[in-house]
Amino acid sequence: MRFEYILLLSAFTGVSLGYSDAETATIVNPEIQLPQKTIEQPQAAPSAAPEPAQAEDASEPALPEDLYQPAALAEAPKFITQHRRDIVTNLDYRCGEKYGRCPSGTCCSSAGFCGTTKAHCRSPDCRIDYGNCDAHKSPKGPPTKDIERSHLGSVPYGPQQIRSCAVPGTVALTFDDGPTRYTGDLLDLLDKYEAPATFFITGINNGKGAIDDPDLPWTPLIERMLLSGHQVASHTWSHEDLSKVTPEQRIDQMLKNEAALRNIMGSIPTYMRPPYSSCVQGSGCREDLGRMGYHIVLYDVDTDDYKNDHPTLIQRSKDIFDQALASTSPTSHSWLIIAHDAHEQTVHNLTEHMLQTMARLGYRPVTVGECLRDPRELWYRKDNRWPGHRKKGPKKPFPQQVSIDGTCGKNFTCFGSSFGLCCGNWNICGNSSTHCGPGCQKDAGYCTVEAPPNGDAWDSSFPSKSGRSEAGSGFNTVGTAAITSLLLALIVAILM
Ligand SMILES: [Zn+2]
Repeated sequence: MRFEYILLLSAFTGVSLGYSDAETATIVNPEIQLPQKTIEQPQAAPSAAPEPAQAEDASEPALPEDLYQPAALAEAPKFITQHRRDIVTNLDYRCGEKYGRCPSGTCCSSAGFCGTTKAHCRSPDCRIDYGNCDAHKSPKGPPTKDIERSHLGSVPYGPQQIRSCAVPGTVALTFDDGPTRYTGDLLDLLDKYEAPATFFITGINNGKGAIDDPDLPWTPLIERMLLSGHQVASHTWSHEDLSKVTPEQRIDQMLKNEAALRNIMGSIPTYMRPPYSSCVQGSGCREDLGRMGYHIVLYDVDTDDYKNDHPTLIQRSKDIFDQALASTSPTSHSWLIIAHDAHEQTVHNLTEHMLQTMARLGYRPVTVGECLRDPRELWYRKDNRWPGHRKKGPKKPFPQQVSIDGTCGKNFTCFGSSFGLCCGNWNICGNSSTHCGPGCQKDAGYCTVEAPPNGDAWDSSFPSKSGRSEAGSGFNTVGTAAITSLLLALIVAILM
């Protein structure tokens, strides 16, 4: 019977090999490596028949060794039943508090399923304590933890939080969660109105890849922000809730985003906004950020744009903004506004309305630093070990040219074009879902998965970071194949 069990478990092992991919080889800088929660190691599996799922899940008992011996044959059906139930549980590739970690190299989705798709691995939905995630990737270059972090200037640093501006007649528009495929359009609009704004940058959220990846369009957008006079600030590496993660994970979230921004700008920001605006008293978050030399910036007008990302709903956000500004006089008051460049209606509808309302009522658009009277040189800290400018990555052999007429494909890319970042199925550049979603050509521009229905909501009370289940795709692609193989092998084992 031993052979049959080897067969059985080899079938299982063969399925599990499908999990291996490049993510497994991700090197995490040891100096800023995330602490892993201690997971009890399982019983040693039989040496001839490794069991990857069991090796990751301490709750699953190892197959009794004596089951391999002929004397145990009479008891086999009972053990097989028990074992099948246990293995089937493993082969669900479930993860979370009840199930433990995913097999090595696989990601634990917000719904508690292991897999390697973008939907499983994208942060912040991906569960960082139960598997691999985008959050675990690290930017290249030296860590930034040794940068000098004195508290210069008169603007308060953490643990104090900043909720409002100080210069009457100013409005600081702030945009969180980008850059995204809409950010280029937003920069065009802000240029048109000569309106400075502040971008709270997230390094690797929503499956967009790292902001300093030379093969992605994000670095030129951040460079353009600086060139256009906007302020670049931090919104963490992967948008985890800084009140809920461990202190080590919290610092890691800040350091990794610093390294990525340093790779782009040569310096790191002194301003940040906590994801979900969550940095609660008693968690140690505010003190940690203060020690790291950050101004913690909240807001006094929430446009609720992430709830209203639809042409028929965005008027609600416009009303919130208009009512706030109309309730005060620019001679005595200023406003600090939160919005998100991750949402189409924010970029293509709400922002121009806000700029027009400001002009009509006599308010002036400024950055957060300006509205707090903080000199520009204090918005960033230089990394003196860095040569000063990012190293350009190797050019892709093709596509060779930026699209000049909005068409794209084999020879023309949408990266860097003014028509949009994504090359759609019909060889046209654009930023809509029809360009960036199914059929999108990733060799000729940027392609993305859709944002969760709640977007990258700031409100941590909103149900789950990604309310919808990701389980379907992961389970079908991984779990079903594994279970099919297992059941076939079990039948063979029983019959023989
Ligand atoms: Zn955010």
